Amino acid sequence: MTLGGHHYFRLAKRLGVALISLVSTTGCGTISTDPAAVRPLAGKCSRLASANPENTMLIALEWGGGTSGIYPAEILDGIDLSAFNLQEGGTLADRSELFEQRLTDQINQIYCDWQQINVLVLNGNDVNFYNADTKVLLTQAVRPDGRMDIGEAEYDPCDVQRDNDAVIFGERIRQLAGTYTFDEWVNVFANVTAHEIAHTLGYAHISRENRPDGPGAPYVELMLDRHTMKEMRREHRFVAPQTNCPNETSAFLSAGTTRDTDVSFSFGR
Ligand SMILES: [Zn+2]
Repeated sequence: MTLGGHHYFRLAKRLGVALISLVSTTGCGTISTDPAAVRPLAGKCSRLASANPENTMLIALEWGGGTSGIYPAEILDGIDLSAFNLQEGGTLADRSELFEQRLTDQINQIYCDWQQINVLVLNGNDVNFYNADTKVLLTQAVRPDGRMDIGEAEYDPCDVQRDNDAVIFGERIRQLAGTYTFDEWVNVFANVTAHEIAHTLGYAHISRENRPDGPGAPYVELMLDRHTMKEMRREHRFVAPQTNCPNETSAFLSAGTTRDTDVSFSFGR
């Protein structure tokens, strides 16, 4: 991916240089047009099969550590799945391949059910082949500045950039969480990752005072303010639409979460 188009695009932005021709020739932000390549990915969400690949945002999940555009000077460790205990015994590391696959599928399900945007989430292994737009780094680290958030993302209210960044802080999740079932862990990681991806697409937090999902709803609102760990173990979905362009300015938004109660936490936006 370091040789991919979006790397150069980001570099160009930093340098204040508009490398438009380079971007277009490296295919930044597009799925390969080879039907054989597209079909298995679109299979994760049938409505994407008929969508224009140019209009489908590709999100890469990276597990092995590295740098993020949010913390360009830091090298963040990869996620350590052995730190997350399973109620069934053992840790997520014992089922790492299945976990990565289920996590990817679950995030794709959240976005597939929300027909207002076309998003396809890829595992890092596929990223060199498919030129991803946004990168989500799943690290075992805590936030380099010491804040206790579980995730952080570039907030792009008008969704003008395709190559945003997000980071999921595994150690902070471990500290807040208990021993969960495999499926609950899938939900916890899928929800926080999908939530951070949503910030990169222009979604902001929805006030808990007028929560659109309600206590008896089948799904927890993905962008709800101040999620608790109890809520994080359930499936999340987008419930309420929102438009934040052009009323907001770009910033970093992050998601924290507390203990196993309904006690709220601070986002520190
Ligand atoms: Zn958030």
